[in-house]
Amino acid sequence: MEQIQGLSSLAGAFQEHMAEKRKFQAIKGTRDLLPLETELWNRVEQTAREVFGTFGFGEIRLPIFEPTELFARSIGTDTDVVAKEMYSFEDYDTSEILELLESRKAALTWVDSPVSPPYGPMGAGAQAIFQPLGSVIGNVVRLGLDAYQRGRIPRTPENERLLADLKDGIGTFVGSINSRSMGENRQAVNGLKGLVGQLRFGDSLCLRPEVTASVCRAYIEHNMHALAQPVKLYCIGPMFRRERPQKGRYRQFYQIDVEVLEAITPNTDATKSLGKDAAVDAEVIEMVMVYFARLGLEGVQLDINSIGHSAPDCRRGYVEKLKAELEKVKDKLGADSRRRIETNPLRVLDSKLESEQAIIEKLPRIGDHLCADCAKHYAEVKRQLDLRGVAYHENWRLVRGLDYYMRTTFEITARGLGSQNAVCGGGRYDGLVELLGGPPTRGIGFAIGEDRVILSLLETGHSPLATRHSPLLYIAWMGEKTLATAIRAARDLRQAGFRVELPPVEQKFSKALGQADKLGARYALILGEDEVASGEWTLKTLADGTQGKYSEEGLMEFLRKTRPS
Ligand code: AMP
Repeated sequence: MEQIQGLSSLAGAFQEHMAEKRKFQAIKGTRDLLPLETELWNRVEQTAREVFGTFGFGEIRLPIFEPTELFARSIGTDTDVVAKEMYSFEDYDTSEILELLESRKAALTWVDSPVSPPYGPMGAGAQAIFQPLGSVIGNVVRLGLDAYQRGRIPRTPENERLLADLKDGIGTFVGSINSRSMGENRQAVNGLKGLVGQLRFGDSLCLRPEVTASVCRAYIEHNMHALAQPVKLYCIGPMFRRERPQKGRYRQFYQIDVEVLEAITPNTDATKSLGKDAAVDAEVIEMVMVYFARLGLEGVQLDINSIGHSAPDCRRGYVEKLKAELEKVKDKLGADSRRRIETNPLRVLDSKLESEQAIIEKLPRIGDHLCADCAKHYAEVKRQLDLRGVAYHENWRLVRGLDYYMRTTFEITARGLGSQNAVCGGGRYDGLVELLGGPPTRGIGFAIGEDRVILSLLETGHSPLATRHSPLLYIAWMGEKTLATAIRAARDLRQAGFRVELPPVEQKFSKALGQADKLGARYALILGEDEVASGEWTLKTLADGTQGKYSEEGLMEFLRKTRPS
């Protein structure tokens, strides 16, 4: 019996242990990148640094969180990214507003208790049920006003208004409890809770869903318009979007982002700047193609388009026509596209829905509605790409549904990725810096989806092991007296750039060789007391079992010759 109890408590402990283990898993849509795979990641990033460096780009490192407003304003509140996918949070010092936070929680979670007194339209029971909310919300108002005055919560007009409305609202509410029905009182409670819920206790920040807006913010903040123009920047790092995870689509994913920003000087010759912009666009595209070729990415296809600029005789006129045509076929479209006719008609062209393809093919095309300047710019981009030997497909359906995007848009796809096969998207965005409060500035950039590049490389047989490494050398030391020599040998070999594994405790010879084998070591350096005494060290090549004797210097010489250059 005791044994059984012992066993069941053991099982309990095991279950607890497992429960604990299960608690800590990478969050859905995020991944751990482990050694070996990270070698490929490093190579992909290092190659970007090298290639972009040769085109005159410098690295910029930016914070991972920024004000939510920065992205709301740049990406647009109508987009999926801003409306549904951002990880945002209120940023405040909990210790400063502890009581206020508790009072908010108490107000938001307050429910009328199901007490029994008879309740009629003017029943006395109503007072007993709803009166307590008065003091709960009274607390929010009192503590909120105090925090507001001390600047511990944002001193925004919204907060000021909400606190005033709550103060008035709670007085009115309490004063008229008896004149309302149960349902009406509950409705009034919800109204007050709604006001409490809108109070902002800190700045709204979010994990960046993309980095173009951050680069523009930094350009403005650091007065980069005063530097030699254009300013060419790249940024590598994680982005966060609450998307539905699938192969090639994650909630934390990595981008290699490139931006070229150029302050617009007044009175520049418009024709000249059109030609210059087109050359810059073409060079940026050439650079990413060179980069992908250097990586050995397979099945790379570049699609380009021009989406004109936001003017009645250009994109805006086209969008009106598109909208009118879409209205005519509305009934045949899916729910998403139907919604987009109003919010963002250009995005309908993005649709992958099979049933919509034939309809979309018959829609008016932006290429036929570009203004003279945009048409000229587009023709020049193509000429410049030809000059650079960059092959492209023209794809009239390639759009970026944001107002500030203009003229050049492009997308690159690669092999081995299934439906999520875009590895890079980019475009020109001349109005963005100004929209974010900076000087008039031209901009073109792109973002590479690093996860997808790696996936494509792996799917097409690029092994992370292909990364060239110094061979691994395992020091099999035996006898306490040899330890000092082993430590010194490890230090000198590492300093010379070799990879060395020095077991922390003495091992039997066979165990040491077994371990060396498991780690994939190429050599075992055998250091016994005899070797230390004679100064002649034994080096065993593990693949064929051959052995040689070397002096310390001779060993270094031999290893240097075998190292990959
Ligand atoms: P975007 O910033 O949406 O223009 O995306 C640029 C590139 O980033 C895309 O072409 C993808 O390669 C990559 N990307 C975008 N969203 C994700 C995601 N959720 N997971 C992985 N890669 C992504």
